Formats: sequence, structure tokens, C-alpha cells
Amino acid sequence: MSSHERPVTPPEVLDRLKSSVREGMPASIADLSALVRIPSVSWLGFDESHVAQTAEHTAELLRSLQIFETVQIDRAPAADGALGQPAVLARRAPRNGRPTVLLYAHHDVQPPGDDAEWSTPPFEPTVRGDRLYGRGAADDKAGVVAHVAAIRALLEIFPDPDLGIAVFIEGEEEFGSRSFAALLDRHRDLLSADVIVVADSDNWSVDTPSLTVGLRGNVTFALTVSTLAHASHSGMFGGVVPDALLASIALLATLHDADGAVAVAGLHSHDQAVPVVSDDQLRADTGLLEGVQFIGRGEKLHRIWAQPSITVTGVDAPSVQNASNTLIPAVRVKVSVRVAPGQKASDAFAAVERHLQAHAPFGAHLSIDSVDLGDPFLVDTSGWAADEAITAMTEAWGAEPVLAGVGGSIPFIAQLVETFPEAQVLVTGVEDPETRAHSPNESLHLGVFHRAVLTEAVLLARLNGAVDLP
Ligand SMILES: [Zn+2]
Repeated sequence: MSSHERPVTPPEVLDRLKSSVREGMPASIADLSALVRIPSVSWLGFDESHVAQTAEHTAELLRSLQIFETVQIDRAPAADGALGQPAVLARRAPRNGRPTVLLYAHHDVQPPGDDAEWSTPPFEPTVRGDRLYGRGAADDKAGVVAHVAAIRALLEIFPDPDLGIAVFIEGEEEFGSRSFAALLDRHRDLLSADVIVVADSDNWSVDTPSLTVGLRGNVTFALTVSTLAHASHSGMFGGVVPDALLASIALLATLHDADGAVAVAGLHSHDQAVPVVSDDQLRADTGLLEGVQFIGRGEKLHRIWAQPSITVTGVDAPSVQNASNTLIPAVRVKVSVRVAPGQKASDAFAAVERHLQAHAPFGAHLSIDSVDLGDPFLVDTSGWAADEAITAMTEAWGAEPVLAGVGGSIPFIAQLVETFPEAQVLVTGVEDPETRAHSPNESLHLGVFHRAVLTEAVLLARLNGAVDLP
């Protein structure tokens, strides 16, 4: 928990925000449904005109607020030269010494997958019970609409806010944010901010919010292990020279100890308190078979959020069907390393590389290529913005947030931090454990959506001067 107590939002402000958010909900759900109807899949091979349409639609929503000096749509080239998908950018300058907040979300979606696995058509927004079903209903069109709805609620109380507001709604987050860095570079002034709200993560439950304070980084590479200049008959020479698969198995086995904990010197863990989850829940979530043990040491969520992990995700070797009695000369494996918050991905890669070279069995030759690095992310929870967010969440949800880690990576956040090192980044979201983002039957819990909009409205009102900032 944060150690810095912040003043509560004045009750008259909080009550008015609550009623405007409540009254605005039907309009926000209609806005969201209109966005969900446009199948804006950003992957190659899908109709690009749909992503252009959601960009246009998003720009129109922002223009309708009538507070921005500029609302624009732009496409920037990716590293390979291909033109990226359209992003929507807007800015209103701050006044009277107020800070500027940058609101991030993305308007593109993942492909729907097999329509037959959906209970209702993926691009036909449908309310069942407490939830709105549809591809992008949560990830992340609800993030887009949450920003718009929060600003609307703010404007009902502060029609001409002093707060600076910048908006960046990306069009290809689901396709690797290829032109993200180019867009940041091109629009650095337009996007510069004191606080960045990234609304693209999840919540602990439908009753308890999360502030995402750490994301693991990622290192992937291909490792080739070679022991022989050519293949030989295993009956003729087996037992006197090592084959590459033997060397690979022996080498990869050194990456973990007997408990299955990572055994590579120089890979860091992050010191972080975590909630306790039940083993049964984790066993059910992962499909861990009866009698098979968990690996690693420490609290289970600490292993996922704050410790490194190493996984071999692919092996190029003869298939079983094509296996002959041959000593295999070379084997190529794909290795994926998750990096704990607080360590640079390049340092983690160097540690793994040193370990592999030092443990190569039988003098096997190693070569590494196709290295891809994504830095982890760690929120500075000592900053005032994190305290503001925690207070806003507590007031909007009636429950204190879990300061959560995420085992996966969102590499663009590291790019944001690199471009705007002074800014405080807040990773929030509209998802909950039942959302099934990227899967069939993705859905948004409407109560969570309501509370997420209220949280952001409270945060904006506080940054606009409803309370004195440190
Ligand atoms: Zn997303």
C-alpha cells in the first residue's frame, strides 16, 4: 500500500461526479456499442478501412467534447517502412499551473477467431446479465469510451477546466504497436504530460480495482547448439561423441534448479508484496494436472509478477516420425525469458548468455541470434500521481486497489517511459478476470466499466484542482 495519505475528494464534487457518470452511462454504452460494431482488426490481411473508421469515430467523439485545441488522425511508418495504422491524437493546453494528463487507449482489436465459438456474433454488441459481449467490448474500446465518459463528467462540473488533457488512441496495439515509437517522436510536444493514464489492463475482481504497478519484461532468442560437423550413424559412433540434442538437454536443464526455480546468476527478482491466491484456483486456471507440482519458490503471485522465468518455447530437431538412427549435429531452440521489474532486458539477456556459455556441456558450440528485448515496467509508487489514482479508485469503488503486477509484457509502456521520463505512468483498466480479452465471448462487466469511468472522472477532477496537489 502507498504510504502517502491524500485528502479526500470534497463530498459535493464526488456526489456530482457520481450522478453525472450514472446519468451518462446509457450514452457511453451506446458509444461503445457503435465502436464494437466496426470490426477494426489491425492485423495484416484484414480490411484496413475498418480501423480507419474507428479512428474517425473516435476523433468525432473527442471533437464532440469541444475542449481540444487539436484533434487529429495520423499514420506513421513502422521500423520496416510500412505505414502504421491510424492513431487519434488530441490536446488541450493546461492553464494556471495545472498539470497535463495524457489518456491512452487503443481502438483496434484482435481478430474474432472462430465465429462458431461465440454465443452471439463478435461484432454485434449484446448485453447479457451484467456484461456487454463483443470483440473489443473491453479490450480496448471500453478504454477509449471510458476516457471520453470521464471527460464528459468532468465538464459537467468544470466546463472550462484548467487541467491540460492530451489523448492518444492507438490503432495497432494488437499488432505490436509497430509505429508507436515514430508517433511518439513525431508528436512529442502534443503528447507530453505530467501524468499518463494507460487504460488497457485489468482489475483484481468485479468488486476490487487494480492499479498495475509492475509488468515483466521479455527477452527472446534462438539458440543453436552444435557438436558435430555432420550427422553420423548412432550405432557406429553413439557413446563416443555427443549429439547436439544430448548437449541441448543437458544445457537447458541447468537453467532451473531441483525446485524448478530459475538458476541463472545475475537475473534479479523484485521485492514486492503480493496477495495470496489459492493453489486450487491456480491449478484450475492453468490446467495443472493432478499430482504435478508447482515450480519455483515464494508466494505464487510473486513468482509470476516479480521473479524471472525461462521457458523453451520451440525446438528445431527431427520429428519423431522422421527420426532415424542418427547422431544429430545441431539443434536450434527458441528461449523466452520473462524479466522481473527493475532489471533492464539487456542485462537479463547478458546474464542468460553468460550462463549458457559457462554451462555448455562437452565443449558444445553455441550461437545466439534473433534476439528481441522488451524492458519491464515498474511504477514509482512513491510519486504523487499513484497516490491520487489510489485515492480516486478507493472513492469510486468503495474498495482499496490491489497494487498488481502482470506476468506478461506491454513493451509500448517502456517506450512511453523512455520518451517521457519525467511523466508518472498509471496503468488502469476496464477488464476483470472474466473478460476473456483476445478470446471468443470477450465481454465487459458494466459495473466495472461504471466504476472505471468514475475513477477516472474523480482523478481528472482532483488533477483539475478539486484538491491541492503536492
Ligand atoms: Zn489492449
